[in-house]
Amino acid sequence: MSVLGVDIGGTFIKFVAKSGNDIKKGKIPTEKSFVSITEEIKKLIKNFHPEVLGIGIAGLYDKKTGKLTASPNIRFLEGVELKEIFETEFGIPVVIENDASAAAYGEYVYGAGKNSQILICLTLGTGLGGGTVINGELLSGVSGSAMEIGHTTIDIEGWRCHCGRKGCLEAYVSSYGLERLYFFLTDQKLSSSEIITLANEGKLEAMKAIEDFSHYLSIGLMNILHIFNPDKIVIGGGIPEYYPAVIDLTVSNLKKIAFELPFRDLNISRAKLGEYSGAYGAMALADKKRKE
Ligand SMILES: [Zn+2]
Repeated sequence: MSVLGVDIGGTFIKFVAKSGNDIKKGKIPTEKSFVSITEEIKKLIKNFHPEVLGIGIAGLYDKKTGKLTASPNIRFLEGVELKEIFETEFGIPVVIENDASAAAYGEYVYGAGKNSQILICLTLGTGLGGGTVINGELLSGVSGSAMEIGHTTIDIEGWRCHCGRKGCLEAYVSSYGLERLYFFLTDQKLSSSEIITLANEGKLEAMKAIEDFSHYLSIGLMNILHIFNPDKIVIGGGIPEYYPAVIDLTVSNLKKIAFELPFRDLNISRAKLGEYSGAYGAMALADKKRKE
């Protein structure tokens, strides 16, 4: 009785395999090609003999056609009919979900979102992903593209987002958003991890850039709070992982701007599963499918 979850990224496949109560996880570098990704997954299947394979993948995955319709970070998979090809290649049922939604499900089953009624999970990485779990069920949307929180607008004349629109939340709240906020303050181009290091050393400009980042994040959270009235928001990704103070800062910003009632019943915390939340979620979705 074994299931396997994989999180397909631009340069790595992360996996979580479960057999009984035994869980194994790992990370495999891949070449940027469909063949390379398929071969690596085949090896994992040979190792773990799963009954069902769960996949989390960045981008807009169309649940109706089984096709990845848009994926800015994994362009070579755009337009590929993943579900059909994978099921033929691997000979087992495959369940596919957007990576941020898979991460939300992973945090719900194994991480910081356990037992929550309405869980929202945000992943602050290269981009800004989101997922929603309501009463234990993932809210995928009719097509599979629900909770694209990164591409909700917070300033219609604002900064350009990687998706092409202006003023998306992701244009401010992502690693490239933080880099821009820092550049705006200092005229210096640093990577988000360099900015976080400086902030941890107490450098004022880096701390100010993170304050600005938190300001925009709290606007995004206010919108989520006012729409969903969730009991739990879990925030994952590199920025909160390496600069945890950003969570408290954001909670206090949010308190100032949100309605009191939904704020009262909200708890915000850091994600627990780190970079494996998507793979955990993909495995949990495979496990769910196995039991159906
Ligand atoms: Zn956008």
